[in-house]
Amino acid sequence: MRRKLIAGNWKMNGSLAANAALLDGIRAGAANLNADLAVCVPAPYLAQAQAALAGSPIAWGAQDVSEHEAGAYTGEVSVGMLKDFGSRYVIVGHSERRSYHGESDALVAQKTVRALAAGLVPIVCVGETLAEREEGKTSEVVVRQLQPVLDAVGVQLAGIVVAYEPVWAIGTGKTATPAMAQQVHELIRATLAQDKQGGAGKAAAAAAATVRILYGGSMKPDNAKELLAMADIDGGLIGGAARKANEFLAIAQAA
Ligand code: PEP
Repeated sequence: MRRKLIAGNWKMNGSLAANAALLDGIRAGAANLNADLAVCVPAPYLAQAQAALAGSPIAWGAQDVSEHEAGAYTGEVSVGMLKDFGSRYVIVGHSERRSYHGESDALVAQKTVRALAAGLVPIVCVGETLAEREEGKTSEVVVRQLQPVLDAVGVQLAGIVVAYEPVWAIGTGKTATPAMAQQVHELIRATLAQDKQGGAGKAAAAAAATVRILYGGSMKPDNAKELLAMADIDGGLIGGAARKANEFLAIAQAA
């Protein structure tokens, strides 16, 4: 049985004052939940998240990381820096990184491996655009995005989290129906299970069965329950609703 994970992606939002209220609110309501909780905050606020959440059941992390270990990469943040502030998770390959920063499938795979090697849990995002869905290319796109990651992580497959985030559903208020999402989650799980380097056959299938596959795209308190009830939806990656403690907690309560 996979325990659900509800992870917030704050994106480029927040301030010390606003974060303090949000973190306190989440912490106050986080006891006795039937799900793991995490917040992925802008990197400058990792120290604040660590101070506010240490000793609580809520994990924290970042929204991106460099594929390099260290060095002359101005503006980049390394896995070691994320670890220095107690991070557990890091989002890689979010569609906003792919579209605004030209991140390729290969780069996302490198970042995933770098995160795993540092002991972080990468939340690897995949998902199709509206045009790709309308052209019937959803499966092709998702497998194309995922395969380089699987080839790169090999036997460390069980260390990743995957987030299926249809681009047309992110921040738009449009949500995939539970059946639409489940169909893609099932495909993702099958792709994980067939990964050649994950340890062919039984080992890959066993690892694939443990990987949490989150849904992301306008998940809110009023649609979370039915999405989270689907067999292969193991949690949510939450944008807008993660910035209101009551909404974030209501999603976690639906898990
Ligand atoms: C996201 O940014 O990962 C996301 C799912 O955003 P929203 O919940 O706002 O659609």
